[in-house]
Amino acid sequence: VEVEARNYLKLDEGKVRCNVCPHRCVLTDGSTGFCGTRINRGGKLYTLIYGEVSAISIDPIEKKPLFHFWPGSGTLSISSVGCSFKCPWCQNWYISQARAGEYPTTYMPPRAIVSYAKRYEAPSISYTYNEPIIWYEYLLDVAALAKKEGLMNVLVSNGYMTPETAEEFSKYVDAANVDIKSWREEVYKKYCKAELEPVLEACKIMKEKGVHVELTYLIIPSINDDLNDIESFCRWVAEELGEYTPLHFSKFYPHYKMTQLPPTPVELIEKALNVARSAGLKYVYSGNVPGHDGENTRCPSCGALVIKRFGFEILEYNLTEDGMCKSCGYGPIVRGKHIKSRRYFFL
Ligand code: SF4
Ligand code: SF4
Repeated sequence: VEVEARNYLKLDEGKVRCNVCPHRCVLTDGSTGFCGTRINRGGKLYTLIYGEVSAISIDPIEKKPLFHFWPGSGTLSISSVGCSFKCPWCQNWYISQARAGEYPTTYMPPRAIVSYAKRYEAPSISYTYNEPIIWYEYLLDVAALAKKEGLMNVLVSNGYMTPETAEEFSKYVDAANVDIKSWREEVYKKYCKAELEPVLEACKIMKEKGVHVELTYLIIPSINDDLNDIESFCRWVAEELGEYTPLHFSKFYPHYKMTQLPPTPVELIEKALNVARSAGLKYVYSGNVPGHDGENTRCPSCGALVIKRFGFEILEYNLTEDGMCKSCGYGPIVRGKHIKSRRYFFL
């Protein structure tokens, strides 16, 4: 449904400026923003996707990916349509590149989302699949209600938010996985039609406000696979977000407009893992390579295998109830408890 947007400014001549993401679109009467989900009607800004849900399912939290937050738990995952980026490799392009009304959605009030999470015993709600930041008004309403009812909120995002958006979300969001598309502004500009710097700023704000932050770097051959870039990115993570920030290097598979590129060679992911470890990062992972040793968590203090995984499954769990290493007592290595009973499905 259509509701008046939050976080916008009325300008001269009936124009408005949306301040949700760093595009800060200026909209004349009748025009929509870059994300295709916000419209100026008579000098007021409206969101067209409030409560419009394109997908809802229970996913393992490891699929977000979050490896250090309530391991093994199911998370109620919801999405809408639209995105603030135009990545030509997007896996979910059919929803992310749709404008409001171009892909079927179902209206669900915030209360319904919270009830589903409770009914299916998911301790958290994840805002995911398309870009959740542009779902600003609905996300804040669902997240506030969820928090009030004892549930947690998880943001799976490209991180493209203004500082004020990052601060507002940080009041409700418990954990975030942010995609870093490249360490080069020109890659963000050329492919995503966006910028890197605000993403890094948003990560810092969320971290400072106590949000559990993990990062994902999809390695795309010839686009962002320079190991020197990856090294300086990892140094930035260690210095600005901390060396215990989990970082996932994901394998790329040809998708959408990038079908001419090969999948990422596993050796390249292994090189990136080594570069990240040398830069001081303690928790680095391979993604989309089921069965790879890079899926496991080792204790940074004694080196014991503390979580053995296969894909999104936990095979062995050697941490105490409060997340400490069972071998040497170091920790906490994860935030939250290990939840073994879980059910995953589309609703
Ligand atoms: S949320 Fe959409 S309308 Fe608002 S600034 Fe970002 S792209 Fe523009
Ligand atoms: S930011 Fe994510 S959802 Fe948006 S286009 Fe890029 S990959 Fe797709």
